[in-house]
Amino acid sequence: MHYPRSLGEFQAWFRTYADCLDYLDWLRWPEGFVCAECAHPRAWELADGRHECRECHERTSPTAGTIFDKTRTPLTVWFTACWLFASQKDGISALALKRALEIGSYQTAWAMLHRLRSVLVRPGRERLRGDVEVDETYVGGEEPGLRGGRQRGKKVLVGVAVEREAPKGFGRCRMVPIPDASAKTLRFFLLDHVEQGAKVITDGWSSYPGATKDLYVHEPLSGASGASGADASKLLPGVHKVSSLAKRWLLGTHQGSVDEEHLAAYLNEFVFRFNRRRSRSRGLVFYRVLELAAAHDPVRYRDLIANPKPDRQQRPPPRTRGRPPSLERPRAGRPWRRATPNYSG
Ligand SMILES: [Zn+2]
Repeated sequence: MHYPRSLGEFQAWFRTYADCLDYLDWLRWPEGFVCAECAHPRAWELADGRHECRECHERTSPTAGTIFDKTRTPLTVWFTACWLFASQKDGISALALKRALEIGSYQTAWAMLHRLRSVLVRPGRERLRGDVEVDETYVGGEEPGLRGGRQRGKKVLVGVAVEREAPKGFGRCRMVPIPDASAKTLRFFLLDHVEQGAKVITDGWSSYPGATKDLYVHEPLSGASGASGADASKLLPGVHKVSSLAKRWLLGTHQGSVDEEHLAAYLNEFVFRFNRRRSRSRGLVFYRVLELAAAHDPVRYRDLIANPKPDRQQRPPPRTRGRPPSLERPRAGRPWRRATPNYSG
């Protein structure tokens, strides 16, 4: 087996920094190390886990050039964060991660989750195919507990595409912020996310004939333009279902505290989860995230912060740069046996 199937296996496999480093090593070079400088396949293994090329003497760490490169967060903490991110169906919020791993600052936990999110879109992933429902919807601006139409933040227009499965049900989806609902914008959205030649099912919005022209089979549902509520959900049940799940997820796991600048990253995470909802093993999802992370270029903190303040509501404490403690710990020696009983018997 190449991924842990349970929490117990996860804990047994990744007890130390060296265990984690070796797993990354195996993910990066499953056929054995090859020097990136000179392509030489023979290397010496150094005590710190690096490889030294026998030809050009270049030294390479398994984390070099990945999102784990030069991070101050111990690998055991990264792996556990990754496990929590992958093993929970709805993921984990930055606040919950901070508490679970005793990470000193909200900012650090927030940045770790964003680094993981940033690897989820595999370059060259396959576009949607077959019969695909396409629509636009507004996401954001909602806040839990505020009724009566009070709204904070800004709504963002999002393009939604969902594969229909025969005889019923849905396949994969995509959700991406778009600047407007013009024919040109929607055409780019389709080209990025839907295989040419697919059947594109939409409402009667006037941009779709132009957006699908010559490249797609367009099936506009007459009477669907401007339809709302029950009507819209009947005509385009896939996009309706996916958008309401996404909105509920943003309000639930993330308490609606998502800035418009980072909405695209959160939607990537939602799409990643939705498209793996039938995955039999959460361990497999963990493996996929780490595999993508090991293959991904480093992400710098300043690349993550489109806007220098992290998400609304949960502001980080000022200038507390927390370095999380490693999860590699000495044995605690059954502290409960040494505790003074708080009862007399
Ligand atoms: Zn070399």
